Amino acid sequence: MMGNVIEQSLRGPSPLIPAEALIGNGHGSRMPGIVAALLTPAIAQKLADLCPTSALAIQQSGALRCLRLSYGRCIGCGKCVEAGEGAVVAETQFSRCGVTKEQTIRLWDIEGRAELTVPAPDPLQVRGAIHSLLQRALNIRQLDAGSCNGCEAEIAALTNPYYDLERFGIHFVASPKHADMLLVTGPVTRNMAEAVKAAYEAVPAPKLVVAVGACGCSGGIFVGSHAITGPVDAVVPVDGYIPGCPPTPAMLVTGILEVLRRRLAK
Ligand code: SF4
Ligand code: SF4
Repeated sequence: MMGNVIEQSLRGPSPLIPAEALIGNGHGSRMPGIVAALLTPAIAQKLADLCPTSALAIQQSGALRCLRLSYGRCIGCGKCVEAGEGAVVAETQFSRCGVTKEQTIRLWDIEGRAELTVPAPDPLQVRGAIHSLLQRALNIRQLDAGSCNGCEAEIAALTNPYYDLERFGIHFVASPKHADMLLVTGPVTRNMAEAVKAAYEAVPAPKLVVAVGACGCSGGIFVGSHAITGPVDAVVPVDGYIPGCPPTPAMLVTGILEVLRRRLAK
């Protein structure tokens, strides 16, 4: 009986999602994108007024009145997509993962209806780097610094047969002493700040730190709470940011590989 089950499983098609379909995939991320051609001053103001985390805001840039979108603050509530009159769409491609904090922010000239920010990393570039990355093992210590566990649920999915992070030579380890990278979730509560610092100190150099989720990137929905000292970069240096609330497994893989690609390119 058990033998039959194992045989069927081994003979069945592999559930593994190809890396090409994974890197930069924005489906399910709930990250918004702006259709610049449809942006008007009234819509921009409405979006800034309704966004619950101020991820969308009006910003003056020199003489230009701009709409600013900070993915690190976005919790993917979808309000802007609903109210955007077509000027806001849910992204189906999303590669602003594992990037610098500056690169998590986009800016549109409202009157000129044009984006002013540099494009996101090309997913093809990240995909192209996979082969060199595959030759190196990477050990990750995941650190919950006050998360709601939403981010952990997505991180846990990375090790299932569908996403199979291990195919990239990336493993999770139990001790920061054995890790190359800290993957930190949560807004860094007061009680966890010292633990985050201690874990950071324990990782041997050269170490990488990735802030995960809106909470890790900006404090997310906990910004202004007396109970947090975060975000992560308020406590330890951060090499890359992965937005989302929570980020999808595709965003996590894209972000981890992008941080590695940037480190190897230095
Ligand atoms: S989806 Fe993000 S940017 Fe849009 S309203 Fe919600 S938090 Fe703000
Ligand atoms: S980013 Fe969202 S899912 Fe992740 S810990 Fe914060 S609230 Fe939870």
